[in-house]
Amino acid sequence: FHKEDVFLMDIINDVFALCAEKFKHNSVDLRLTIPPSMLKHVIYCDRIQISQVLLNLLNNAFDAIEGDKGAWIHVGFVDNLTHDYIQVENSGKRIPESIVPKIFNPFFTTKEVGKGTGLGLSISKSIMENHLGSIELAATEHTRFVLKLPKRSSL
Ligand code: ADP
Ligand code: MG
Repeated sequence: FHKEDVFLMDIINDVFALCAEKFKHNSVDLRLTIPPSMLKHVIYCDRIQISQVLLNLLNNAFDAIEGDKGAWIHVGFVDNLTHDYIQVENSGKRIPESIVPKIFNPFFTTKEVGKGTGLGLSISKSIMENHLGSIELAATEHTRFVLKLPKRSSL
C-alpha cells in the first residue's frame, strides 16, 4: 500500500487502455466527463490499487450491458474542498433492490460459474476503506458507483 500524488488522467489513461479495445469491439460507448481544469488534477492514492478499483467497476458495467443496443459507460469526475469523486455509470436498469445489500459481500456473484468470482466489489470496498474513502451505489436511474477519496490536504 503506497500512497503518492498521481495525475488522475494517468490512472484513467492506464485503465482505459486496458478496456478500450474490448468495449469498442462490443459497441459499448465509453465516455469520460472531466472539466478541462481537471486535466492536471492530482489525487493522493495508491495508483495500482485505485486503477484496480476503476477497472473492476468498468468490467462490471461492461458485463451488465454487453449486447444492449446503444450501451454506454460514463466515467465522471468531480471534487470539493475535501474530497475527490470518481463516478462510473452504465446504461440499463438499476441493480435490483433485492441484491443491492449483497453486492459488496465477498463471493457474491450473479454471473455464471467461471465468469465471476464475486470478489471485485468486496476488494474494491477494502481498497477504498484503506484510503479512508468509500465506494457507494448512487440512487440514480441507471447504475452508478461513486468512489470517494479524501484529498491529501484533508487527511
Ligand atoms: P463479479 O463481477 O465477479 O460477479 P463483483 O463483486 O464485481 O463480482 O460484483 C458482484 C455482483 O454485483 C455482480 O455479480 C452483479 O450481480 C452485481 N453488479 C456489480 N456491478 C454491477 C453493474 N454495474 N450492473 C449490474 N450489476 C452489477
Ligand atoms: Mg466484478
